[in-house]
Amino acid sequence: MKVCFIGLGTMGLPMALRLADQGIDVAGWDVASDAGQGLHSRRATLADAAEGADIIVTMLPEGAHVAETHRAILALGGGSKRLFIDSSTIDVTTTKQLAAAASSAGHGFVDAPVSGGAEGARAGSLSFMIGGSEADSATAMPVLRAMGTKITHFGAPGAGQAAKACHNMICGITALGVCEAFALADSLDLDADKFFQLCAGAAAQSWILENRCPVPGPAPNAPASNGYAPGFAAGLMAKDLRLAQAAASATGQATPFGAEAARRFSEFAEDAEAGRLDFSAIYRTIRSN
Ligand code: NAD
Repeated sequence: MKVCFIGLGTMGLPMALRLADQGIDVAGWDVASDAGQGLHSRRATLADAAEGADIIVTMLPEGAHVAETHRAILALGGGSKRLFIDSSTIDVTTTKQLAAAASSAGHGFVDAPVSGGAEGARAGSLSFMIGGSEADSATAMPVLRAMGTKITHFGAPGAGQAAKACHNMICGITALGVCEAFALADSLDLDADKFFQLCAGAAAQSWILENRCPVPGPAPNAPASNGYAPGFAAGLMAKDLRLAQAAASATGQATPFGAEAARRFSEFAEDAEAGRLDFSAIYRTIRSN
């Protein structure tokens, strides 16, 4: 098995390194010449990286980048069947189009977006939400297992991205709720440490509360206690919440809290500097005095 890994950024580089560490033959490529430092098998061109690869993994910012990359690889031709695994977070509609294009050229496709961040990528403990045929999903498994510990198959192509959009909508809405509660607690002169400990051990407990407590202090390892360094950037949270809204519009399901979260995070991340901070930094816009 030979894997071609496209997109060697915050997530892609540690994922590709993890594959190499697990003894998988992996060749990488990134449009940015300074990306992918540390991956010995980084190639000079996309065509070099894709040469002889039976599995192509993409970890790119947006659907347009994935579509452009898939088109370029399909244009390279070559007779053997390949499997495209897209681990980027992109929209469901584009994902279905990518799967159809791969299939009509005789190739397989699995969407496999992730949760777990760069830390999970380095540790090989990512969670994958996957969509694809049973056969394509089975082919993807050895590659996904080398990078993650929890792999959930949701159904046909697009189902992985659908699960990711719903998952991140919960995270965005929860983050705003946690921020508002800490802002109110502060305005009522409650001790932040005591309030955090109470919530962490009571019904208000959540991953967001414990790992992204938005005020500096109570959770020493949280971004808020470290200058709001990401973590998961507010700009990415805004993007994911907009993808959830696109999915909601496509089905006609009303998601008013999700819509409000998408609006608030998009507004916050409009400022480029704020967009690069961890999403919990939105607390600064919520605590009003
Ligand atoms: P990133 O910006 O750090 O890396 C993306 C890389 O893709 C960059 O190195 C860029 O140069 C490269 N690139 C862009 N267009 C390209 C092209 N056409 N061909 C080849 N390379 C190209 O982004 P990231 O944080 O690694 O995120 C990648 C994807 O993973 C996104 O869709 C993001 O939403 C998702 N994601 C990120 C996280 C996270 O914590 N960072 C967590 C889960 C999912």
